[in-house]
Amino acid sequence: MIAHLINTDIGNRGITRLYLEYRRQNFNFLKNAAKIFLKNYERTLIVTGFPIPPTMVAETDGPPGAVAIYRAVETLGGEAGILTYSEIEKALRPFEIQTIKKPQIGDYSLVITVETPGKTADGKYHSMSGLEITRETFDWTVEEARELGIPTIGIGDGGNEAGMGKIHELVKKYIPHGEKIASVVETDKLVLSAVSNWGAYGLVAEASLISNTPLLKIRDEGSIIKALTEGGVIDGVTKKAENSVDGIPGKIHSTILKLFEELLHPKSP
Ligand code: MG
Ligand code: MG
Repeated sequence: MIAHLINTDIGNRGITRLYLEYRRQNFNFLKNAAKIFLKNYERTLIVTGFPIPPTMVAETDGPPGAVAIYRAVETLGGEAGILTYSEIEKALRPFEIQTIKKPQIGDYSLVITVETPGKTADGKYHSMSGLEITRETFDWTVEEARELGIPTIGIGDGGNEAGMGKIHELVKKYIPHGEKIASVVETDKLVLSAVSNWGAYGLVAEASLISNTPLLKIRDEGSIIKALTEGGVIDGVTKKAENSVDGIPGKIHSTILKLFEELLHPKSP
């Protein structure tokens, strides 16, 4: 049910067909990712931030999801750090988040990417509309983690993010500009979603259900988006610093969060 919720394609990005096929092949993709999370959360590096061409300013999708995972790690008693772009780092300061500038991957037990550009077969990075990304990228974290045998989880919503290497043939088939944008960077587990923030909430929600522990603490999503946009972070679709994510207005995101609440804490009939 949570996998369905996070793949509700309100933004009409062509995720539905990709999701249905991915789910047919990996029925328990979300559950398996949540199990890896619960087994390895002690020292978690969370990587987030997607620069939007032509300005290369980061977008509002990713950081709220990264914070939700960060809070879940804290609640479980683990230690988390976030690697991201300077404008996001600055905006997150009031939220008591530990950010990491130069992570030593070997120090971590788990690496999770949330809406992080993943390179294509020709070593370039592209936005969903096929424009090249020309800012520093962080997909090396999962590549290095995999070399070291450290578990990795990728969360994405368009096919051009780290983690999508697992299904890049499906991305080419179903996503507009797929041939050009499909990332070949793999993670051990991939959480596919219609909005990456929702994918991150979904991972935490699934982990809550499995561990029977309330881990999803996202009441501050609105204030995180406000802080991000005040710091110049933009909606990746409208390219404006406004209360929306992936072209979807803030009030829809609040509604999705209410649905999470209902799924996790159903009221008795
Ligand atoms: Mg994306
Ligand atoms: Mg997105």
